[in-house]
Amino acid sequence: MRHKGVILWLTGLSGAGKTTIARGIECKLKERDCLVEILDGDEIRSHLSKELGFTKEDRNTNIRRIGFVANLLSRNGIVAIVAAISPYRAIRDEIRMMNENFIEVYVDAPLEVCEVRDIKGLYAKARSGEIKNFTGIADPYEPPINPEVICRTTKESIEECINKVIAELERLEYIPIWNQMNQC
Ligand code: ADP
Repeated sequence: MRHKGVILWLTGLSGAGKTTIARGIECKLKERDCLVEILDGDEIRSHLSKELGFTKEDRNTNIRRIGFVANLLSRNGIVAIVAAISPYRAIRDEIRMMNENFIEVYVDAPLEVCEVRDIKGLYAKARSGEIKNFTGIADPYEPPINPEVICRTTKESIEECINKVIAELERLEYIPIWNQMNQC
C-alpha cells in the first residue's frame, strides 16, 4: 500500500534530542515498510548549505533549502523527517504554509540540560567564545506556539518521545494503526 508523504519537522535547541528521536522514528517506520528520509541539520550544513554561516539570513536560507527538499520528498510519498534547530518561528511557519502535510514536533529541553549534555562539545565552545552566534547562548531560539507534538526530553524517555510522534502519524492517518496482523 502506498502512503501519503508528510514532513515531520523536529525543532529544538542543540542537544535537545532531535537526531536521536528522528533515528528512532525512522527505525519504527521502516519496520512498517514506510519510505522515510532524514534531513539532519548538521549533515545538510556539510553538503547542501556548505557555504552558509549562522547569521539570521543564512540560517533562514538553510531552513528554506531544507523545506524545499522535504517538500519534494513528502509529495512523493516519503516521510521526510527534518532534524534541525530551525530557530526562527516565521520560517518554520512559512514552510508549513507551503505544505498541507506538515507536522511540527517541538523537541523541548531546557538550555541548562542541553548544556550539561553537550554531546558535540559546542556549548563549551560557545561559552568560551570560540563559536559565535550559538543558538541559546548568543542567538535566539523561538519555540513553536502550537506544535502538533511536544517531546519533553527531560521528562519523557526516548521511547516515549518516539511513540508520541508515531501515535500522531497514526491519529492523522498518515500510517495505519499498527497491530501484529497489520502490515503497512
Ligand atoms: P540534537 O539532534 O537535538 O542536537 P541529539 O539527539 O544529538 O540532539 O542529542 C540528544 C542527547 O540527549 C542524546 O545523547 C540522547 O541520548 C539524550 N536524551 C536523553 N533523553 C532523551 C529523550 N527523551 N529524547 C531524545 N534524546 C534524549
